[in-house]
Amino acid sequence: MSHTFAANGDTPSGTPTDPPSATLSSTPTGTPAAPPGLVRPEIPEEQWNDWRWHMRKRITDVAKARQWIRLTSDEEKAIAGSAGKYRWSVTPYYASLMDPYDPDCPVRQQAVPALGELLEHTGAEVDPVGDMFYRKTNRVVHKYPDRVIMLITEACPVYCRHCTRKFHTTAVDGTYFEKNEGEDFTEDLRYIAEHPEIRDVLLTGGDPLSYRDGKLEEIVSSLRAIPSVEIIRIGSRFPVLLPQRITDELCAMLARHHPVWLNTHFNHPKEITPESERAVDRLLRHGIPVGNQTVLLRGINDDLETMRTLMTELLRIRVRPYYLYHCDNVTGVSHFMTSVEKGWEIMEGLQGHITGFGVPQYVLTTRLGKIPISQPYHRRTPEGLVLRNYKGEEMLVDDAAYPVAETEGGR
Ligand SMILES: *Cc1c(COP(=O)(O)O)cnc(C)c1O
Ligand code: SF4
Repeated sequence: MSHTFAANGDTPSGTPTDPPSATLSSTPTGTPAAPPGLVRPEIPEEQWNDWRWHMRKRITDVAKARQWIRLTSDEEKAIAGSAGKYRWSVTPYYASLMDPYDPDCPVRQQAVPALGELLEHTGAEVDPVGDMFYRKTNRVVHKYPDRVIMLITEACPVYCRHCTRKFHTTAVDGTYFEKNEGEDFTEDLRYIAEHPEIRDVLLTGGDPLSYRDGKLEEIVSSLRAIPSVEIIRIGSRFPVLLPQRITDELCAMLARHHPVWLNTHFNHPKEITPESERAVDRLLRHGIPVGNQTVLLRGINDDLETMRTLMTELLRIRVRPYYLYHCDNVTGVSHFMTSVEKGWEIMEGLQGHITGFGVPQYVLTTRLGKIPISQPYHRRTPEGLVLRNYKGEEMLVDDAAYPVAETEGGR
Protein backbone atom coordinates (compact mmCIF):
# COMPACT_ATOMS: atom_id res chain seq x y z
CA MET A 1 0.00 0.00 0.00
CA SER A 2 1.41 3.35 -0.90
CA HIS A 3 1.08 6.24 1.48
CA THR A 4 0.51 9.31 -0.54
CA PHE A 5 -1.52 11.78 1.46
CA ALA A 6 -4.44 11.96 -0.91
CA ALA A 7 -4.83 8.17 -0.95
CA ASN A 8 -4.72 8.21 2.83
CA GLY A 9 -7.40 10.83 3.13
CA ASP A 10 -4.88 12.93 5.03
CA THR A 11 -5.48 16.23 3.35
CA PRO A 12 -7.05 18.62 5.83
CA SER A 13 -10.41 19.74 4.58
CA GLY A 14 -10.75 23.43 3.89
CA THR A 15 -7.05 23.93 3.20
CA PRO A 16 -5.45 23.89 -0.22
CA THR A 17 -4.13 20.51 -1.24
CA ASP A 18 -0.40 20.50 -0.75
CA PRO A 19 1.61 18.09 -2.84
CA PRO A 20 3.29 15.48 -0.68
CA SER A 21 6.68 16.61 0.45
CA ALA A 22 9.42 15.55 -1.93
CA THR A 23 11.55 14.21 0.90
CA LEU A 24 8.78 12.08 2.28
CA SER A 25 9.44 8.38 2.08
CA SER A 26 6.84 6.27 0.35
CA THR A 27 7.88 3.17 2.27
CA PRO A 28 4.71 1.33 3.18
CA THR A 29 3.79 1.34 6.83
CA GLY A 30 4.54 -2.23 7.68
CA THR A 31 3.41 -4.34 10.49
CA PRO A 32 6.89 -5.54 11.25
CA ALA A 33 7.54 -9.26 10.89
CA ALA A 34 8.91 -11.10 13.90
CA PRO A 35 12.68 -11.61 13.65
CA PRO A 36 14.03 -15.16 13.68
CA GLY A 37 13.62 -16.87 17.03
CA LEU A 38 10.87 -14.55 18.24
CA VAL A 39 7.21 -15.43 18.24
CA ARG A 40 4.73 -12.67 17.81
CA PRO A 41 1.09 -12.57 16.81
CA GLU A 42 0.28 -11.09 13.41
CA ILE A 43 -0.72 -7.46 13.66
CA PRO A 44 -3.17 -6.23 11.02
CA GLU A 45 -2.03 -2.98 9.41
CA GLU A 46 -5.19 -1.22 10.48
CA GLN A 47 -4.31 -1.85 14.12
CA TRP A 48 -0.68 -0.92 13.59
CA ASN A 49 -1.79 2.48 12.29
CA ASP A 50 -4.16 3.06 15.21
CA TRP A 51 -2.49 4.81 18.15
CA ARG A 52 -5.15 3.62 20.58
CA TRP A 53 -4.30 0.03 19.72
CA HIS A 54 -0.64 0.71 20.60
CA MET A 55 -1.65 2.30 23.89
CA ARG A 56 -3.75 -0.74 24.82
CA LYS A 57 -1.09 -3.20 23.71
CA ARG A 58 1.84 -1.59 25.48
CA ILE A 59 4.56 -3.91 26.68
CA THR A 60 4.57 -3.98 30.45
CA ASP A 61 5.89 -7.43 31.28
CA VAL A 62 8.61 -9.89 30.39
CA ALA A 63 6.30 -12.18 28.42
CA LYS A 64 5.22 -9.39 26.08
CA ALA A 65 8.75 -8.04 25.79
CA ARG A 66 9.97 -11.45 24.64
CA GLN A 67 7.78 -11.11 21.55
CA TRP A 68 9.98 -8.21 20.47
CA ILE A 69 13.45 -8.76 21.88
CA ARG A 70 15.59 -11.48 23.33
CA LEU A 71 15.99 -10.21 26.88
CA THR A 72 19.37 -10.58 28.56
CA SER A 73 19.58 -11.84 32.13
CA ASP A 74 20.68 -8.36 33.27
CA GLU A 75 17.62 -6.84 31.64
CA GLU A 76 15.41 -9.41 33.33
CA LYS A 77 17.04 -8.65 36.68
CA ALA A 78 16.53 -4.94 36.09
CA ILE A 79 12.88 -5.45 35.15
CA ALA A 80 12.31 -7.49 38.30
CA GLY A 81 14.32 -5.06 40.45
CA SER A 82 12.54 -1.96 39.20
CA ALA A 83 9.06 -3.46 39.49
CA GLY A 84 7.08 -1.58 42.12
CA LYS A 85 9.62 1.27 41.94
CA TYR A 86 9.50 2.52 38.36
CA ARG A 87 6.81 2.15 35.74
CA TRP A 88 7.65 0.27 32.60
CA SER A 89 5.70 0.55 29.40
CA VAL A 90 6.69 0.44 25.73
CA THR A 91 4.50 0.94 22.68
CA PRO A 92 4.72 -1.87 20.11
CA TYR A 93 5.76 0.80 17.60
CA TYR A 94 8.79 1.87 19.67
CA ALA A 95 9.57 -1.78 20.47
CA SER A 96 9.69 -2.47 16.73
CA LEU A 97 12.65 -0.07 16.46
CA MET A 98 14.69 -2.05 18.97
CA ASP A 99 17.40 -4.43 17.90
CA PRO A 100 15.97 -7.77 19.06
CA TYR A 101 19.40 -9.26 19.84
CA ASP A 102 21.56 -6.30 20.90
CA PRO A 103 21.04 -4.97 24.44
CA ASP A 104 23.20 -1.95 23.56
CA CYS A 105 20.70 -0.85 20.92
CA PRO A 106 20.14 2.90 21.46
CA VAL A 107 16.37 2.53 21.29
CA ARG A 108 16.32 -0.43 23.61
CA GLN A 109 18.43 1.33 26.24
CA GLN A 110 15.92 4.19 26.35
CA ALA A 111 12.99 1.86 26.93
CA VAL A 112 14.11 -1.29 28.77
CA PRO A 113 15.11 -1.03 32.45
CA ALA A 114 18.82 -1.43 33.21
CA LEU A 115 20.52 -2.35 36.47
CA GLY A 116 22.08 1.13 36.51
CA GLU A 117 18.80 2.77 37.41
CA LEU A 118 18.68 0.90 40.71
CA LEU A 119 22.05 2.27 41.87
CA GLU A 120 22.27 5.28 44.16
CA HIS A 121 24.66 7.71 42.49
CA THR A 122 26.45 10.37 44.58
CA GLY A 123 24.56 13.62 44.55
CA ALA A 124 21.58 12.27 42.64
CA GLU A 125 18.27 13.98 43.39
CA VAL A 126 14.70 13.40 42.30
CA ASP A 127 14.32 17.04 41.25
CA PRO A 128 17.74 18.66 40.67
CA VAL A 129 16.22 21.40 38.49
CA GLY A 130 13.84 22.61 41.18
CA ASP A 131 10.51 22.17 39.41
CA MET A 132 8.87 21.63 42.78
CA PHE A 133 10.43 24.75 44.24
CA TYR A 134 9.03 26.95 41.45
CA ARG A 135 5.62 25.32 41.41
CA LYS A 136 2.94 27.96 41.98
CA THR A 137 -0.13 25.78 41.64
CA ASN A 138 -0.57 22.06 41.30
CA ARG A 139 0.51 22.19 37.66
CA VAL A 140 2.16 25.55 36.95
CA VAL A 141 5.93 25.95 37.30
CA HIS A 142 6.91 29.63 37.03
CA LYS A 143 10.67 30.03 36.86
CA TYR A 144 11.25 32.57 34.08
CA PRO A 145 9.66 36.01 33.85
CA ASP A 146 7.49 35.63 30.75
CA ARG A 147 6.74 31.92 30.52
CA VAL A 148 5.61 28.92 32.50
CA ILE A 149 5.40 25.21 32.10
CA MET A 150 2.19 23.45 32.89
CA LEU A 151 2.60 19.84 33.98
CA ILE A 152 -0.75 18.68 32.72
CA THR A 153 -0.23 14.95 33.20
CA GLU A 154 2.15 12.34 34.51
CA ALA A 155 1.30 9.79 31.81
CA CYS A 156 3.52 8.90 28.84
CA PRO A 157 3.24 6.30 26.07
CA VAL A 158 6.70 4.97 26.93
CA TYR A 159 8.43 5.60 30.23
CA CYS A 160 11.84 6.67 29.02
CA ARG A 161 14.44 5.33 31.37
CA HIS A 162 16.35 8.63 31.21
CA CYS A 163 13.38 10.90 31.95
CA THR A 164 14.47 14.06 33.73
CA ARG A 165 11.17 14.04 35.61
CA LYS A 166 11.52 10.37 36.44
CA PHE A 167 10.11 10.99 39.90
CA HIS A 168 6.99 12.58 38.45
CA THR A 169 6.39 10.32 35.45
CA THR A 170 7.99 6.98 36.09
CA ALA A 171 8.39 6.47 39.83
CA VAL A 172 5.47 4.39 41.05
CA ASP A 173 5.20 6.30 44.32
CA GLY A 174 6.13 9.69 42.95
CA THR A 175 4.20 12.57 41.49
CA TYR A 176 4.53 16.32 41.76
CA PHE A 177 0.83 16.56 42.27
CA GLU A 178 0.11 16.90 45.97
CA LYS A 179 -3.56 16.45 45.70
CA ASN A 180 -5.45 14.63 43.05
CA GLU A 181 -7.37 17.38 41.35
CA GLY A 182 -8.60 15.05 38.68
CA GLU A 183 -9.03 16.98 35.48
CA ASP A 184 -9.84 20.28 37.12
CA PHE A 185 -7.48 22.99 35.87
CA THR A 186 -9.31 25.98 37.35
CA GLU A 187 -6.61 27.01 39.81
CA ASP A 188 -3.81 26.64 37.25
CA LEU A 189 -5.63 28.67 34.61
CA ARG A 190 -6.49 31.32 37.16
CA TYR A 191 -2.82 31.71 38.09
CA ILE A 192 -1.88 32.26 34.45
CA ALA A 193 -4.73 34.73 33.89
CA GLU A 194 -3.74 36.65 37.03
CA HIS A 195 -0.14 36.97 35.82
CA PRO A 196 -0.36 38.87 32.53
CA GLU A 197 3.43 38.84 32.24
CA ILE A 198 3.06 35.18 31.19
CA ARG A 199 2.91 35.28 27.41
CA ASP A 200 4.17 31.79 26.69
CA VAL A 201 2.73 28.57 28.14
CA LEU A 202 4.48 25.26 27.61
CA LEU A 203 2.31 22.21 28.12
CA THR A 204 4.37 19.31 29.35
CA GLY A 205 4.15 16.49 31.84
CA GLY A 206 4.35 13.60 31.29
CA ASP A 207 3.22 13.81 27.73
CA PRO A 208 0.31 16.19 27.05
CA LEU A 209 -0.78 14.22 24.00
CA SER A 210 -1.67 11.32 26.32
CA TYR A 211 -4.99 13.11 26.72
CA ARG A 212 -7.76 12.46 24.29
CA ASP A 213 -8.28 15.27 21.77
CA GLY A 214 -11.42 16.56 23.48
CA LYS A 215 -9.77 17.15 26.86
CA LEU A 216 -6.69 18.58 25.22
CA GLU A 217 -8.79 21.05 23.27
CA GLU A 218 -10.49 22.09 26.49
CA ILE A 219 -7.09 22.94 28.01
CA VAL A 220 -5.71 24.63 24.90
CA SER A 221 -8.84 26.70 24.28
CA SER A 222 -8.98 27.79 27.94
CA LEU A 223 -5.43 29.05 27.56
CA ARG A 224 -6.30 30.72 24.28
CA ALA A 225 -9.12 32.54 26.05
CA ILE A 226 -6.56 34.29 28.29
CA PRO A 227 -5.67 37.49 26.38
CA SER A 228 -2.11 37.74 27.75
CA VAL A 229 -1.17 34.25 26.53
CA GLU A 230 0.47 34.72 23.14
CA ILE A 231 2.03 31.39 22.30
CA ILE A 232 1.16 27.88 23.37
CA ARG A 233 3.86 25.28 23.21
CA ILE A 234 3.58 21.53 23.57
CA GLY A 235 6.41 19.25 24.63
CA SER A 236 5.61 15.79 23.32
CA ARG A 237 7.55 12.66 22.55
CA PHE A 238 4.65 11.05 20.68
CA PRO A 239 6.23 11.79 17.26
CA VAL A 240 9.07 9.49 18.39
CA LEU A 241 7.33 6.96 20.64
CA LEU A 242 4.01 6.60 18.83
CA PRO A 243 3.80 8.84 15.74
CA GLN A 244 0.40 7.37 14.87
CA ARG A 245 -0.95 9.67 17.61
CA ILE A 246 -0.32 12.68 15.36
CA THR A 247 -3.57 12.36 13.46
CA ASP A 248 -5.13 14.84 11.11
CA GLU A 249 -7.87 15.48 13.65
CA LEU A 250 -5.35 16.31 16.37
CA CYS A 251 -3.40 18.67 14.12
CA ALA A 252 -6.55 20.37 12.86
CA MET A 253 -7.72 20.86 16.43
CA LEU A 254 -4.41 22.41 17.49
CA ALA A 255 -4.39 24.59 14.38
CA ARG A 256 -7.66 26.15 15.54
CA HIS A 257 -5.75 27.68 18.45
CA HIS A 258 -2.65 29.04 16.75
CA PRO A 259 0.06 30.09 17.40
CA VAL A 260 0.92 26.60 18.65
CA TRP A 261 4.47 25.21 18.62
CA LEU A 262 5.65 21.70 19.36
CA ASN A 263 8.98 20.43 20.59
CA THR A 264 9.72 16.76 20.47
CA HIS A 265 12.56 14.56 21.65
CA PHE A 266 14.53 12.52 19.12
CA ASN A 267 17.74 11.13 20.61
CA HIS A 268 19.04 8.87 17.87
CA PRO A 269 18.87 8.64 14.05
CA LYS A 270 17.24 5.19 14.40
CA GLU A 271 14.14 6.96 15.70
CA ILE A 272 13.66 8.80 12.43
CA THR A 273 11.32 6.48 10.52
CA PRO A 274 8.78 6.92 7.73
CA GLU A 275 6.07 7.03 10.43
CA SER A 276 7.77 9.74 12.48
CA GLU A 277 8.57 11.65 9.31
CA ARG A 278 4.89 11.61 8.36
CA ALA A 279 3.86 12.77 11.85
CA VAL A 280 6.24 15.72 11.60
CA ASP A 281 5.08 16.55 8.09
CA ARG A 282 1.47 16.58 9.24
CA LEU A 283 2.25 18.97 12.10
CA LEU A 284 4.16 21.26 9.76
CA ARG A 285 1.42 21.27 7.16
CA HIS A 286 -0.93 22.47 9.88
CA GLY A 287 1.40 25.34 10.63
CA ILE A 288 2.86 23.89 13.82
CA PRO A 289 6.63 24.44 13.87
CA VAL A 290 8.45 21.37 15.17
CA GLY A 291 11.63 21.64 17.21
CA ASN A 292 13.71 19.00 18.92
CA GLN A 293 15.31 18.61 22.32
CA THR A 294 17.93 15.89 22.61
CA VAL A 295 19.44 14.58 25.83
CA LEU A 296 23.11 13.65 25.74
CA LEU A 297 23.08 10.03 26.92
CA ARG A 298 26.00 7.74 27.62
CA GLY A 299 26.10 4.75 25.30
CA ILE A 300 23.17 6.07 23.27
CA ASN A 301 24.24 9.21 21.46
CA ASP A 302 27.48 10.34 23.11
CA ASP A 303 29.56 10.29 19.96
CA LEU A 304 29.96 12.90 17.29
CA GLU A 305 29.05 10.72 14.33
CA THR A 306 25.70 9.73 15.83
CA MET A 307 24.90 13.26 16.89
CA ARG A 308 25.87 14.80 13.58
CA THR A 309 23.72 12.27 11.72
CA LEU A 310 20.85 12.94 14.10
CA MET A 311 20.99 16.69 13.50
CA THR A 312 21.25 16.43 9.71
CA GLU A 313 18.46 13.84 9.62
CA LEU A 314 16.29 16.17 11.70
CA LEU A 315 16.92 18.93 9.17
CA ARG A 316 15.98 16.56 6.36
CA ILE A 317 12.57 15.98 7.97
CA ARG A 318 12.35 19.74 8.69
CA VAL A 319 12.68 19.53 12.45
CA ARG A 320 14.72 22.32 13.94
CA PRO A 321 17.26 21.21 16.59
CA TYR A 322 16.66 23.39 19.67
CA TYR A 323 18.42 22.11 22.78
CA LEU A 324 21.04 19.52 23.56
CA TYR A 325 20.55 18.85 27.26
CA HIS A 326 23.39 17.71 29.40
CA CYS A 327 22.02 14.70 31.30
CA ASP A 328 21.13 15.78 34.84
CA ASN A 329 22.04 13.80 37.93
CA VAL A 330 18.50 12.57 38.47
CA THR A 331 17.87 9.61 40.77
CA GLY A 332 17.66 6.49 38.59
CA VAL A 333 19.12 8.28 35.56
CA SER A 334 22.71 8.93 36.65
CA HIS A 335 24.10 5.96 34.71
CA PHE A 336 23.30 7.86 31.49
CA MET A 337 25.42 10.88 32.42
CA THR A 338 28.47 11.87 30.38
CA SER A 339 31.11 14.45 31.15
CA VAL A 340 30.59 18.04 30.07
CA GLU A 341 33.82 17.65 28.07
CA LYS A 342 32.07 15.00 25.96
CA GLY A 343 29.32 17.48 25.22
CA TRP A 344 31.87 20.11 24.22
CA GLU A 345 33.62 17.68 21.91
CA ILE A 346 30.30 17.01 20.18
CA MET A 347 29.34 20.68 19.98
CA GLU A 348 32.75 21.51 18.45
CA GLY A 349 32.06 18.87 15.81
CA LEU A 350 28.68 20.39 14.97
CA GLN A 351 29.30 24.13 15.07
CA GLY A 352 30.45 25.30 11.65
CA HIS A 353 30.48 21.76 10.26
CA ILE A 354 26.75 21.82 9.58
CA THR A 355 24.44 24.77 9.07
CA GLY A 356 23.91 27.05 12.06
CA PHE A 357 20.27 26.10 12.43
CA GLY A 358 21.23 22.44 12.69
CA VAL A 359 23.28 23.17 15.79
CA PRO A 360 21.33 22.92 19.06
CA GLN A 361 22.16 24.99 22.09
CA TYR A 362 24.00 22.87 24.66
CA VAL A 363 22.42 23.56 28.04
CA LEU A 364 22.59 22.34 31.57
CA THR A 365 19.33 22.65 33.48
CA THR A 366 19.73 23.84 37.04
CA ARG A 367 17.69 25.51 39.77
CA LEU A 368 18.85 28.78 38.20
CA GLY A 369 17.33 27.82 34.85
CA LYS A 370 18.78 26.41 31.65
CA ILE A 371 22.38 27.53 31.40
CA PRO A 372 24.06 27.60 27.96
CA ILE A 373 27.36 25.80 28.44
CA SER A 374 28.88 25.71 24.95
CA GLN A 375 32.46 26.81 24.66
CA PRO A 376 32.92 30.32 23.29
CA TYR A 377 34.50 31.02 19.91
CA HIS A 378 36.00 34.31 21.06
CA ARG A 379 38.04 35.83 23.84
CA ARG A 380 39.21 39.28 24.81
CA THR A 381 42.97 39.74 25.04
CA PRO A 382 45.02 42.90 25.65
CA GLU A 383 45.61 42.99 21.88
CA GLY A 384 41.97 42.80 20.95
CA LEU A 385 39.24 40.28 20.29
CA VAL A 386 40.49 36.82 19.30
CA LEU A 387 38.11 34.83 17.12
CA ARG A 388 38.31 31.14 16.35
CA ASN A 389 36.58 29.17 13.59
CA TYR A 390 35.34 25.57 13.50
CA LYS A 391 38.77 24.37 12.29
CA GLY A 392 40.53 26.03 15.22
CA GLU A 393 42.03 28.80 13.07
CA GLU A 394 42.29 32.06 14.99
CA MET A 395 42.34 35.70 14.03
CA LEU A 396 42.79 38.90 16.00
CA VAL A 397 40.52 41.84 15.41
CA ASP A 398 41.74 44.99 17.12
CA ASP A 399 39.89 47.09 19.62
CA ALA A 400 39.42 49.94 17.16
CA ALA A 401 37.18 47.72 15.07
CA TYR A 402 35.36 46.09 17.98
CA PRO A 403 35.97 48.36 20.95
CA VAL A 404 35.56 47.28 24.55
CA ALA A 405 32.42 48.81 26.07
CA GLU A 406 33.47 51.85 28.10
CA THR A 407 30.79 51.44 30.74
CA GLU A 408 32.12 48.02 31.62
CA GLY A 409 35.56 49.41 32.31
CA GLY A 410 37.20 47.30 29.66
CA ARG A 411 39.36 44.29 30.34
C1 LIG B 1 12.49 24.68 30.09
C2 LIG B 1 11.58 25.48 30.83
C3 LIG B 1 10.85 26.52 30.23
C4 LIG B 1 10.97 26.86 28.76
O1 LIG B 1 12.25 27.29 28.49
P1 LIG B 1 12.65 27.79 27.02
O2 LIG B 1 14.10 28.05 27.14
O3 LIG B 1 11.85 29.00 26.75
O4 LIG B 1 12.33 26.70 26.07
C5 LIG B 1 10.01 27.25 31.01
N1 LIG B 1 9.88 27.01 32.33
C6 LIG B 1 10.56 26.02 32.93
C7 LIG B 1 10.36 25.80 34.39
C8 LIG B 1 11.43 25.22 32.21
O5 LIG B 1 12.09 24.23 32.82
S1 SF4 C 1 7.96 10.96 27.13
FE1 SF4 C 1 9.11 12.67 28.02
S2 SF4 C 1 8.15 13.02 30.03
FE2 SF4 C 1 7.53 10.96 29.32
S3 SF4 C 1 9.05 9.54 30.19
FE3 SF4 C 1 9.77 10.10 28.13
S4 SF4 C 1 11.15 11.84 28.51
FE4 SF4 C 1 9.86 11.62 30.35
